[in-house]
Amino acid sequence: MAKRRKKRYSFKPRFFIIIAVFILLIFACVKLITSLINNTDTAASNIIQGTNNITIAIDSGHDSKTDKGAVAPGGVYEYKLNDGVAKALSDELKSRGYNIVITRALNSGEEKTLNERALIVNEAWPDLLISIHHNTNEDVSVKGFTIIYNSQKTAIYDGQYIKYKNQTYKVTNKDDSYIYYQSGGSEKKLDIKSNAGNYKLIDLTASSLITKSKEAANDIYNSMKNLSFISGLTSNIDNVIIDQNLQLMRQTHCAGIMVECGFMTNESELAKLINEDNQKAIAKAIADGIDNYFNIGDNKESN
Ligand SMILES: [Zn+2]
Repeated sequence: MAKRRKKRYSFKPRFFIIIAVFILLIFACVKLITSLINNTDTAASNIIQGTNNITIAIDSGHDSKTDKGAVAPGGVYEYKLNDGVAKALSDELKSRGYNIVITRALNSGEEKTLNERALIVNEAWPDLLISIHHNTNEDVSVKGFTIIYNSQKTAIYDGQYIKYKNQTYKVTNKDDSYIYYQSGGSEKKLDIKSNAGNYKLIDLTASSLITKSKEAANDIYNSMKNLSFISGLTSNIDNVIIDQNLQLMRQTHCAGIMVECGFMTNESELAKLINEDNQKAIAKAIADGIDNYFNIGDNKESN
């Protein structure tokens, strides 16, 4: 009898530990699956937090190793010019309170494929993506900046979403008082009045993202056209703001544009583009355009 009782007591704790581990495992699996289903995402760890609750993804084209981008006569590599403007843009936007996420560490030797860059952008759920590049042309007289958006963007998350407490959720319904959203496999509701300013509604339909990308391109064009040392590719805005099926814009679920800051193949323009003060001026003009796009600063227009 004593032997049997002893056996029963030593069996019980082990049984409970196995059950506890089992429950924890199920809980972890359910958490993972529901987060995947609902597209929720914790704030990416590589976001540099600002103060204005707007996240900008900055992408500096190419890298210092495998894909250096274009090469100018004289051996100036595109990635270096891209890094110069991207670093200045990052500093400028940080000083203006934006959250920043960078797709490839600048001036670092880091390499990232376009797929990896898209993943970093998407994990950060940014409000806008700016990709920095520099142009070349066989005709060395060609010069000027261009801004590219992608009208062939297709929706990755088609629908209305809500950003709330650093997470993004799919909106299921909305009325005058509440926004209903999917979280952890169930529907939750957010009181619109008491949460004013704590959440952001985002429209991730393709048409909305394309419209927003065009608006951002326009706003950045309007501030870049005031630069004294560089002008648009042509005097016709329609030929400066160009529509191209860019992979990075196609693979990301936010509004986004690419800025080609100028032509490296034009000798006089290259001399201006390698100048650090000019790189800062380009970055400042892009930042002014971003401020306008988000209705920040004095030049407020409807967005
Ligand atoms: Zn490039």
